[in-house]
Amino acid sequence: MERIHEILENVKTVGIAGHLRPDGDCIGSCMGFYLYLKHNYPELEADVYLEEPKPVFSYIAHMDDVFHDIQGREDMVYDLFVTLDVSSKERIGVAGPLFDIAKKTVCIDHHVSNHGFGQINHIRGEISSASEVLYNLLEPDKIELEAATAIYTGIAHDTGVFQYSTTSPDTMRIAGELMKYGFNFSKIIDHSFYEKTYVQNQVMGRVLAESIMLQDGKCIVGYMKRKDMDFYGVTGKDLDGVVSQLRLTQGVEVAIFVYEFEPQFFKVSLRSNGIVDVSKVAVFFGGGGHMRAAGCDMRGSMYDVINNLTAEIEKQLLGE
Ligand code: 5GP
Ligand code: MN
Repeated sequence: MERIHEILENVKTVGIAGHLRPDGDCIGSCMGFYLYLKHNYPELEADVYLEEPKPVFSYIAHMDDVFHDIQGREDMVYDLFVTLDVSSKERIGVAGPLFDIAKKTVCIDHHVSNHGFGQINHIRGEISSASEVLYNLLEPDKIELEAATAIYTGIAHDTGVFQYSTTSPDTMRIAGELMKYGFNFSKIIDHSFYEKTYVQNQVMGRVLAESIMLQDGKCIVGYMKRKDMDFYGVTGKDLDGVVSQLRLTQGVEVAIFVYEFEPQFFKVSLRSNGIVDVSKVAVFFGGGGHMRAAGCDMRGSMYDVINNLTAEIEKQLLGE
């Protein structure tokens, strides 16, 4: 596929979905595609499915149109179903069953661990974000302010505000093109990326204070147990950004952050500064992601989870 119109031939209905626990790139790419279709193909019926996004993304247009479940639409057979930023079929989230019964399926993504689960797959592992991959499939002169705002959001988030090594000259050129639409990029970045609630800052501080250094200071581990999450009244969404802060510790090669989303069931986030390929570690434990940012779910005691993870990381650190 070179351009999006190639997949729209004879299509009247389109379903769009991102991944579980949608992040900025997932929301930005799904909404960017939705808004692009809405403006340029008004005759198409397009629906977006995303788990409840964080309220900080409410500046993106038409967020109220998003379906958070498929109740009452279980039998909807879309002519085309497109996933964005979804690395494997199990991660489609709420709309998984609709993907399965759709007439044509397309997967647009940038995860190296994605083997391609659509009938058509457009996966560019070297590109910063699903939003940047999407931009390259759109006709630049058909993009307007609303779609541009969403796509810029996605690119800014998945590059850590144009900082990660996946940020290329093309990423900056595209971000520059998008800025021309005149949205308030400073406000978008402050509000959707950096800003934290008081309690989010409190838990960040607590995790950092209790973190442990392993493997001669090359690996840092932060954790949050269920009972502490309940004490502060936080969910996984409130813990975004913690692992990125851990990664910035001097001398660290790999940062691990785990939180207990159900008793003895942990969500794992991994970040690397370059030597260790954390997507391999995540894939080993049934997850996925990118070389420098990956994740998985793991069962057991906190002790076992951390031990198993660090053992896999150590193999790479020792060059085994
Ligand atoms: P995060 O640590 O921010 O949740 O995720 C980092 C990256 O790893 C994201 O690109 C995300 O899609 C991927 N990732 C996180 N958790 C999982 C998982 O359980 N399975 C898969 N396949 N990918 C994951
Ligand atoms: Mn992404």
